[in-house]
Amino acid sequence: MTDPIPPCRSCGSDKLQNVLSLGQMPLANATLTADQLREPEPAYPLDLAFCPRCSLVQLTTSVPPQKLFDTYLYFSAYSQTMLQESQLLAERLIESRKLNSQSLVVELGSNDGYQLQYFVTKRIPVLGIDPAKNIVQVAEAKGVPTLCSYFGRDLAVELRTKNKLADVIIAKNVLAHVPDSNGFVAGIGVLLKKDGLGVIEVPYLKDLLDKSEFDTIYHEHLSYFSVTALNELFRRHGLALKEVERIPLHGGSLRLYVARDGEPAESVRSLLRDEEKWGVTRLETYRSFAGQVAHLKESLKALLKSLGDKGGRIAAYGAAAKGTILLNYCGIGPDILDFVVDLNPHKQGRYMPGVRVPITSPSQLLEKMPDYTLILVWNIADEVIRQQSEYIHRGGRFIIPLPQPKIVGE
Ligand SMILES: [Zn+2]
Repeated sequence: MTDPIPPCRSCGSDKLQNVLSLGQMPLANATLTADQLREPEPAYPLDLAFCPRCSLVQLTTSVPPQKLFDTYLYFSAYSQTMLQESQLLAERLIESRKLNSQSLVVELGSNDGYQLQYFVTKRIPVLGIDPAKNIVQVAEAKGVPTLCSYFGRDLAVELRTKNKLADVIIAKNVLAHVPDSNGFVAGIGVLLKKDGLGVIEVPYLKDLLDKSEFDTIYHEHLSYFSVTALNELFRRHGLALKEVERIPLHGGSLRLYVARDGEPAESVRSLLRDEEKWGVTRLETYRSFAGQVAHLKESLKALLKSLGDKGGRIAAYGAAAKGTILLNYCGIGPDILDFVVDLNPHKQGRYMPGVRVPITSPSQLLEKMPDYTLILVWNIADEVIRQQSEYIHRGGRFIIPLPQPKIVGE
């Protein structure tokens, strides 16, 4: 028996249409210890639906948040690309908003403080908010004051009564993870100073579809935003979407600037027009994406099989959430992959969820010299390839799975 489809997370419509089912999936970030290999692993359906009324694309299953975030092992500070982007964003905001020791910068989903640290070094007061206890401890130890909590309208009201109002609110890659999108956006409206600015980053739905990035669909990631859907969500809570930029992070993201009033700039209007032309409001757009994903699975499996048949040994790079989805959906397990490498020492010695391939250090690429290494973190493929030039020099080859599987390094 399947559960009834819930109402739309944004507009409440009860007419959601299922567009893609990735099947039963383990939690994408729940890497396993050796002991846990003896136990059964929880799995949940991973189904994507489209709202014909507000165009929001969303998951129809919600896993209880405690299961997802309590011991979240994702320490974003490990990617150089993200650190550089974060420093640049801080510098731009400090200058354009004339931030000083009287200002307050609040970050929602502040992780280990990797973004706020660039304000702290400039003596600008900050407040991080993040629900994962172990990560909050890391942030605090770095000198980034952080509240261990979920963010929503209630917390915003509480902060407001304590006279903690924000000049800038940053929310990077978190809105898409929030079950109550309306409460979260309303909270931003409550917490912003009258002339404050919200800077919100979300992975961009159009990039996901255009580049077949189906592996960015996972249980933590509840909403898949277009500018069309966001525009309606913000307006519902009295916020204006003033400007929008497309940025390359996470396979293509939007950086949105929201304020309490103001008119949308041309950047917003032109993306709205582009989306309309592209088919953001049409069900067929999403149905054809589902066909694309099924095709990608077949071609990747065929490539790996033919390499394996010729005696090629294959490893993978990046024990990230998207890696879990790609490996499990495509059925790529220990029969095909020898191991997965990851720079994050917290993940080494553990196993990929579902497929249970062991995770080890990137130094193993040179020690074991697998013939091919499948880059699961294709969003930082350039960085990986640069770091592993010696591996390529000695004859190793990388496989980039998306949007079409291809071998690089020859
Ligand atoms: Zn809707």
